[in-house]
Amino acid sequence: MITVTKTFFPPLKEYNSQLQRIWDNQWLTNRGELVVELEGKLKKHLSVSNIVVTTNGTIPLQIALKLLGGQGEIITTPFSYVATTAAIVWEHCTPIFVDIHPEYLTIDETKIEAAITNKTTAILVTHVFGNPCNTEVIEGIAKKHNLKVIYDAAHCFGVRYKDKSLFEYGDVSTCSFHATKLFHTGEGGAMFANDNELQHQMFYSHNFGHNGPLAFHGLGINGKMSELQAAMGLAVLPYMEFILGERKKAVDYYNKYLDLSRLQTLKIRENTSWNYSYYPLIFESEDQLLKVEERLKASEIVPRRYFYPALNTIEYSKGQLMPIAESIASRILCLPLYVGILEEDLNRIINIINANVC
Ligand SMILES: *Cc1c(COP(=O)(O)O)cnc(C)c1O
Repeated sequence: MITVTKTFFPPLKEYNSQLQRIWDNQWLTNRGELVVELEGKLKKHLSVSNIVVTTNGTIPLQIALKLLGGQGEIITTPFSYVATTAAIVWEHCTPIFVDIHPEYLTIDETKIEAAITNKTTAILVTHVFGNPCNTEVIEGIAKKHNLKVIYDAAHCFGVRYKDKSLFEYGDVSTCSFHATKLFHTGEGGAMFANDNELQHQMFYSHNFGHNGPLAFHGLGINGKMSELQAAMGLAVLPYMEFILGERKKAVDYYNKYLDLSRLQTLKIRENTSWNYSYYPLIFESEDQLLKVEERLKASEIVPRRYFYPALNTIEYSKGQLMPIAESIASRILCLPLYVGILEEDLNRIINIINANVC
């Protein structure tokens, strides 16, 4: 079976040698040697000045909202993974959706100001499929209205935008290192803050608020990454160039051979060095998508309707109409894309799609 993604497994020997260090240290969590080493290596690899690795990519969203959201209204996107909206509701904030741009698939920044009220505290938006939001305009609006900006950058490992890491934009950016993501630690994530004081707050917040064993800086929760997670990260990180190269090959192949005259692909924002994290295809209608999906499944090929449904239609957050996001969500399919996908598999996928969209 061909699935939408396959986790990259580093050579077991290399993973085992990382595990050996944990056994030697007899130390499993609370910022052990491997976690600290992973943070240092990621800082260098990504060229960022601040990072805290976490147990997953959702807890940093919650921590950022707890510190910056103030239980107010959060301007957000209806087109993202459910974690973006769920974190807002979980932190007792109110999601205020703003529709997306039909080609970039990120929030339509020209519609943000109309959604701001005196209860708005922050903007939490997603760089969808690693494609940057219009950060300049968004951060200009935020400054003018005294709002905080949080980017859900779960898909953005290694993406550079206007000559710096995409993680360096906004007040806070968050990333996911889930097994299905580009770089992974099984489960895991990271948070990046652009201000040292905020970085300090986020750091202690992810460790129960501790200031040493006996005192507390403030309220906190448990968002710590364990040594076992870091071991996987340290084993995967040396392969990032290889992983990107393999994914680029598959993306180029799709672009070359898919009949794109009647299909829409992701439009990458200019000045972006992208990371080939997903291959979304937007069909002319949901019926066309369902037909293609059925034909693919009959050949044991399982793409994923990512992201579906639009987040403004979920039971706990519904009520606002988002025509563009709802339309895109009903017509978008992510094609299989992973290290090791065979050319013959790509050909089968391409042939089925081309035969069913004409
Ligand atoms: C994967 C993902 C998350 C959640 O990350 P986890 O590590 O699974 O908690 C959040 N936002 C987006 C856009 C994601 O794709």
